[in-house]
Amino acid sequence: MNSLRTGYIYHELFGWHDTGTQAGMFPTDPSRGLQPFVNYENAETKRRIHELIVVSGLIDNLDRRTPRHATFEELLLVHPAEYLNQLKKTSDQEFGGDAGDGETPLAKGGYEIGTLAVGAVTQLIQDSLAGHIDNGYALVRPPGHHAVRAGGMGYCLFSNLGVAISVAKKENPGIRIAVVDWDVHHGNGTQDIFYDDEDVLTISLHQDRLYPRKTGGREERGVGTNINIPLPAGTGNGGYLYAFETVIRPALKKFKPDLIAVASGFDSSVYDPLGRMLVTAKGFAQMTEILMESAADTAKNRLVIAHEGGYNAVYSPFCGLFVLQQLSGIHKLDDPFSHTDTYPGQALFPHQKSEIDLANPLNP
Ligand SMILES: [Zn+2]
Repeated sequence: MNSLRTGYIYHELFGWHDTGTQAGMFPTDPSRGLQPFVNYENAETKRRIHELIVVSGLIDNLDRRTPRHATFEELLLVHPAEYLNQLKKTSDQEFGGDAGDGETPLAKGGYEIGTLAVGAVTQLIQDSLAGHIDNGYALVRPPGHHAVRAGGMGYCLFSNLGVAISVAKKENPGIRIAVVDWDVHHGNGTQDIFYDDEDVLTISLHQDRLYPRKTGGREERGVGTNINIPLPAGTGNGGYLYAFETVIRPALKKFKPDLIAVASGFDSSVYDPLGRMLVTAKGFAQMTEILMESAADTAKNRLVIAHEGGYNAVYSPFCGLFVLQQLSGIHKLDDPFSHTDTYPGQALFPHQKSEIDLANPLNP
């Protein structure tokens, strides 16, 4: 057990962001055989993570914070006024609309729910820097890591972490922040926003060319502070932990961040419908543990995790619970699906090792 103070933010309104009726990821279209169902990005996974945190009793050991909305001025640190005004207009319409790429639906009021998600992540980082908490988890929705400066993308209305980090940088001149993105998709938005910024280290490990299809390559290094680790489909705990030990831990040691942020998608989990990876709840806890050690090393234990993707409503709650159990040092429940920890595919395979070694800036 550690004695760290772990902050936690969730708000019921995050579940009210309405992505509508869809055939998973496409609009319903009988002419193409696309039957109406739910959007993969719906409230259920997030709501059920929160409910497991409550029902397990872990909630009593967390410092629950109340989120606030991000201000227009804070959003302007990343997104242009034209986009914000257009999105607000869309959000005010009776039936909502889309944030720009045709794959980011929102219903009426989606703008305000989005600003609450940005505000929650911003606040948790502020709370950590102010010493009110050590580490923490912002269970927010909609997600943020695909949104670029110019607009929304891939279910993301705003760059939650992009705005939160920009606010932290404005309030704390000279601060250095690292972002580790373990969502199965490339953290293209965070990369885009901080590509020329030497004070923000962005690291994304993701299934190679899953989404977006054209970003996330190893050669995208910005000013030397962007690291992409594209992983072959089928990578499990062995491959992820090898990347954390040989690439991420040394990169953090060298960069010496004052705070480590995480873009936390559980769509890299073994049961996710949108990814083809094998990470288990235990694997997410082990990755969290490594980042906690790095945060203890240079960042006074400041580790703030922002929720992103994760689309299996049964398994995602255990991934979230395991990350929060690790952050708080308090164990409430085991993973009923722990047989997946011993799948043969969890080993580090040579083709995975060679890809990770090629992505390692320590191996020029
Ligand atoms: Zn994702």
